[in-house]
Amino acid sequence: MQIAKAILITCLLCKVFPAGAQNSTLWKNKKCAVALTYDDALNIDLDKVIPALDSVGFKGTFYLIGSSDAFTKRIPEWRRAAAEGHELGNHTMFHPCYGKRPGREWVKPDYDLNSYTMQRMTDEIKMNSALLEATDGKTKRTLACPCGDTKIGDSSYLYQVKNNFAAVRDATPDANDVNGFGNVVIQWMGPNGNSGDQLIAAVKKAMESHALLVFVFHGVGGDHNINISSEAHRALLQFLKQNESQVWVAPFIEIAEYIKRR
Ligand SMILES: [Zn+2]
Repeated sequence: MQIAKAILITCLLCKVFPAGAQNSTLWKNKKCAVALTYDDALNIDLDKVIPALDSVGFKGTFYLIGSSDAFTKRIPEWRRAAAEGHELGNHTMFHPCYGKRPGREWVKPDYDLNSYTMQRMTDEIKMNSALLEATDGKTKRTLACPCGDTKIGDSSYLYQVKNNFAAVRDATPDANDVNGFGNVVIQWMGPNGNSGDQLIAAVKKAMESHALLVFVFHGVGGDHNINISSEAHRALLQFLKQNESQVWVAPFIEIAEYIKRR
């Protein structure tokens, strides 16, 4: 009877305190988790971002496009970054997106997702993983969908490749579905022209709500039309370092696997 009562009370507590609103035990006894992710395989990642992260001892996730020059011409440097603990994520081989949307003039007709078959898309994603495995020796990584576009006809390609990945770093309904993160609170920021104070404000908000905050960076100090300054990025890293005892900073794969284990 006592046991039944204890179970009942425990279940009631589950309802009152859902996982997302739990106290600081959720994130290794810290207030929140922060994933620093960087898209599109940029030279600036190797030249500036990774040295900046290394200088404060943080590890990021770099979503690499297998066909990009910044990857193919600098494979030994990416290998070194992975050996130091940074995650090499999969951002597909050719970065296909829907080309017919406003502002998508940059999508080459050959890599317009509208003209892809499911087979072609999943083949290219798997080959990009093989390329990354040849680089870092790892069989597990996360995926970020170019432009967040995932539908081939009526079906999302995520369901065809989900078993190849620890998680998908996207906020689309199909990504949420395959991730199965439950009711963890996830906050997103795709900085573009933001100041250091604005980046820091996002972290403070995540601390208050015990959330996972995912930064989706592109350019840092240039190299992409979506961009923030090196100074803003540095200010964020300094704030994270100063608050290391309260904020868990880790590659996206590490945080995703932690959520799934719980
Ligand atoms: Zn991209």
